[in-house]
Amino acid sequence: MEIEINLAEPEKRKVSQFEELPFGKIFTPHMFIMKYEENKGWHSPKIQPFSNIELHPAAIVLHYSQTVFEGLKAYYGIDGKIRLFRVWDHIARLNRSAERLCIPQVDPEFVFKAIKTLILIDKDWIPKKKGSALYIRPLIFATQPNLGLKISSEYLFIIILSPVGAYYKEGFNPVKIYVTTEYIRACPGGTGEVKTGGNYAASLKAQELAQKKGYTQVLWLDAKEKKYVEEVGSMNIFFYFDNELATPALTGSILPGITRDSVLKLAPQLGIPTKERRISIDEIIESIENKTLKECFGTGTAAVISPVGEICYKDKSYIINEGKTGELTRKLFEYITGIQYGEKEDPFNWTVIVED
Ligand SMILES: *Cc1c(COP(=O)(O)O)cnc(C)c1O
Repeated sequence: MEIEINLAEPEKRKVSQFEELPFGKIFTPHMFIMKYEENKGWHSPKIQPFSNIELHPAAIVLHYSQTVFEGLKAYYGIDGKIRLFRVWDHIARLNRSAERLCIPQVDPEFVFKAIKTLILIDKDWIPKKKGSALYIRPLIFATQPNLGLKISSEYLFIIILSPVGAYYKEGFNPVKIYVTTEYIRACPGGTGEVKTGGNYAASLKAQELAQKKGYTQVLWLDAKEKKYVEEVGSMNIFFYFDNELATPALTGSILPGITRDSVLKLAPQLGIPTKERRISIDEIIESIENKTLKECFGTGTAAVISPVGEICYKDKSYIINEGKTGELTRKLFEYITGIQYGEKEDPFNWTVIVED
């Protein structure tokens, strides 16, 4: 399929200079858009000036949340080359999410071509400072007008780009997290392991409560026993015990993060064995108290690694590593970002250089 390209006016294409780049509020001048109709399949792919879209008020997505998305980044390297990090894994996950939501599959090669073409058109919008990047947000949603609950016969696939600044403006500082025993993020057989809007809408209440109590993120427990740790906010979570870096095993209600997978593969390269297993909240509290838990951090594309310095469980607060960022946490952050910006060797060939 050929992508029809319709460029924005030169005036609109000029790169704006921003003092600060708040996450996800600034967009580049172009977007990718493609339609799906039952009898035609995916068709009419276009790159066009960024604009609002028109939706029928009865579009299925607005009522029944039939939608999926991805989040990945393009980095401006120290060699001046543009790199995508694990783009094929993100595209594969987009299709897995789509499958779960009864949304038609997209051709991975074609999605790669769409991302590449779009970022090359807006390449001047990739911020150059280390730590900043171009956030890429592909999304697919159901557009058929129908108030009856059914699988949509029409969809839109859109890709938008947002330049984002370094996540850590005031330094690589640990966050405080709140264990919710009241709310649940995801349950077995549900949609927790895919990126679909409803999961996030359902998590807002607990997040609001945690923030009211002075915490940044929610630590989610499993739905059945409210005993095992699953994720933190919209990140995966790692615990560094005496010489073992552990993360909850994928149970079906945990999002299989690509940063999670990167940490699982890179830590052994630093001489640290990793383990995917069940981790109970009681084990965490006990290991904080007897000082066998050395470090704790969350992982995700936006922050890469987010150190955790405090956990609140049943209204009691527990401090990890004196509330400071640990050495392994810092090393892993530097290793992954080093690969993303082309400073460090990429042992698993995760980066793809994008060139005209
Ligand atoms: C996206 C996401 C993650 C992190 O995944 P990455 O691929 O590392 O960005 C973790 N948990 C949830 C719920 C997510 O939506």
